[in-house]
Amino acid sequence: MDTKNIWNIFLDKIKSRVSPLTFETWFKDSSLFELKENSIVILVPMHIHKKHLNENYKDLINEIFTDITNTYFEISFITNDEITGETAKVEEKEIGVPSFSPEKANLISKYTFENFVVGDSNKFAHTAAVSIAENPGKMYNPLFIYSSSGLGKTHLMHAIGNHILKNSNKKILYVTSDTFISDFLNINKKDQNGSNFDSVDFFKEKYRNIDVLLIDDIQFLSRATQTQQEFFHTFNNLYDSNKQIVISSDRSPDDLKLLEDRLRTRFSWGLSVNIYPPDYKMRIEILKKKIKSQKIENIVNEDVIEYIANNCESDVRQLEGALTRVIAYATIYNCSNIDINIAIEALKDYLSKASVSKNSVQKIQQVVSDYFKVTTDDLKSKKRLANITHPRQIAMYLCRKLTDESFPRIGMYFGGRDHSTVVHSCNKIEKEIKLNNSFKEMIETIIKKI
Ligand code: ADP
Ligand code: MG
Repeated sequence: MDTKNIWNIFLDKIKSRVSPLTFETWFKDSSLFELKENSIVILVPMHIHKKHLNENYKDLINEIFTDITNTYFEISFITNDEITGETAKVEEKEIGVPSFSPEKANLISKYTFENFVVGDSNKFAHTAAVSIAENPGKMYNPLFIYSSSGLGKTHLMHAIGNHILKNSNKKILYVTSDTFISDFLNINKKDQNGSNFDSVDFFKEKYRNIDVLLIDDIQFLSRATQTQQEFFHTFNNLYDSNKQIVISSDRSPDDLKLLEDRLRTRFSWGLSVNIYPPDYKMRIEILKKKIKSQKIENIVNEDVIEYIANNCESDVRQLEGALTRVIAYATIYNCSNIDINIAIEALKDYLSKASVSKNSVQKIQQVVSDYFKVTTDDLKSKKRLANITHPRQIAMYLCRKLTDESFPRIGMYFGGRDHSTVVHSCNKIEKEIKLNNSFKEMIETIIKKI
């Protein structure tokens, strides 16, 4: 048996022994790097895999390998970076974990790992989150997740909470830093009236008698100096008793300039992970997942999905919002099939002008290439064959005539051409329209199709 075969058998077997989430996160992207007489080296994607597998799955891996080969192996893990010599170690802390009984946690149950789409832009954050969820308090403390808005921080935090809630009896609390601030201010308000004992107790009970604190949007704490001190004590209290803390923010710990230094330092004790905007492939996947969950995959055309994915590039919230709008529009107008025209109409105010414009360029390129039986890639290519250059010039002319795009931007949409090329094309086509009536009619036909 070669190593690839053994690994495939191993994957099959381990798949039936762990949850799908565990399999996807920790095993799917690994491979057998080296198999010797009595040692095995497994190649894993990131350092975090190495640590997690070592601490949690070594016995199971061993058991399965022994089962397949009848040999006992010494198992170790290696990352690609280590093979190439670029070791990128993450800072980490390890601690033990106590257990409590389940309690109200403020968790939104629909935000789970199962419906969180993973791609290159959030892979690291997702893996770190799963690792925390499987082993709260033991792996990385605190876990600090940061990104600009709408990229899944809140979703991931709830997913961590929901996973822990389902698999243990730990006490979890999800709050935004705003809630923390107002709970704290409440104590002080009552303090002035002289009867604050209840609220102090409430505060301490709420924030200290827990195993997992998920605190969202910590950047709002910057405004509240007094509360920062209280948060500092809460953090220390939890941290010192090995409780898991997960923090999210719209910027990195270093960029939380208004936060006390001692807090910022503590935030970087554990692991900081960044989420980036999703790429096109991932945007498509998120849309499809959402469409499927609403059981409407049969009535949404593929080009609608592409249209939304093309026009909502910055974040997932906007992407979801666009889809919701299109579906609402189709429902109101009783459309049995959602096609591109419905999407364009439904989103005309929602999308910024620039992105609508970008899409019209794509539409023009599509219609022109269909008409002349060439591909849109041909239009953007450097090819100089007459059967391609002429449609390309026509498409550029139509972009200039029908959209608000400038010559340089049109050039950009056509494979990065210089603006003088676009000017030349437009002049040439205009002249042709004046001189040739049948050509003029053809252009009018194409415009109708757009
Ligand atoms: P943030 O807290 O970073 O502003 P959210 O967690 O509120 O972002 O995400 C905004 C919306 O996008 C939510 O509805 C969330 O479910 C969805 N979302 C974000 N990332 C993903 C993802 N990777 N897969 C599926 N849905 C996502
Ligand atoms: Mg959020």
